[in-house]
Amino acid sequence: MDCLFCKIVAGEIPADKVYEDDEVLAFRDIAPQAPVHVLVIPKRHLAGPAAVEKEDAGLAGRLMAVAAEVARQEGVGEHFRLVVNNGAEAGQTVFHLHMHVLGGRRMEWPPG
Ligand code: 5GP
Ligand code: ZN
Repeated sequence: MDCLFCKIVAGEIPADKVYEDDEVLAFRDIAPQAPVHVLVIPKRHLAGPAAVEKEDAGLAGRLMAVAAEVARQEGVGEHFRLVVNNGAEAGQTVFHLHMHVLGGRRMEWPPG
């Protein structure tokens, strides 16, 4: 399958990894939007949050637990933002589920 993040999981494209286990991988975003900007992804291909079934609840919860762990590891564990985009109009550009972990600067609300 021609998926950028599957290629990162497979080691075909390099990434600056900050966490890895049997189901989840986290690596730094190539175009950081904050001092800390890490992407947390399932190793298994899911196109986005709309593709998450109730049977995937364990994996989805694990993504958030890893995101919080990464935020702590990066020194922003008390103040960070998690973003998951679904669909091009919502800003999704890579169609493999990923949770953005953003931190290290003040965040505005509402988001753009
Ligand atoms: P989306 O816009 O789909 O929510 O987020 C995709 C993210 O992937 C973007 O923030 C973009 O900068 C990041 N990205 C795109 N290509 C690469 C890449 O090859 N390596 C890494 N580390 N991040 C990437
Ligand atoms: Zn994929």
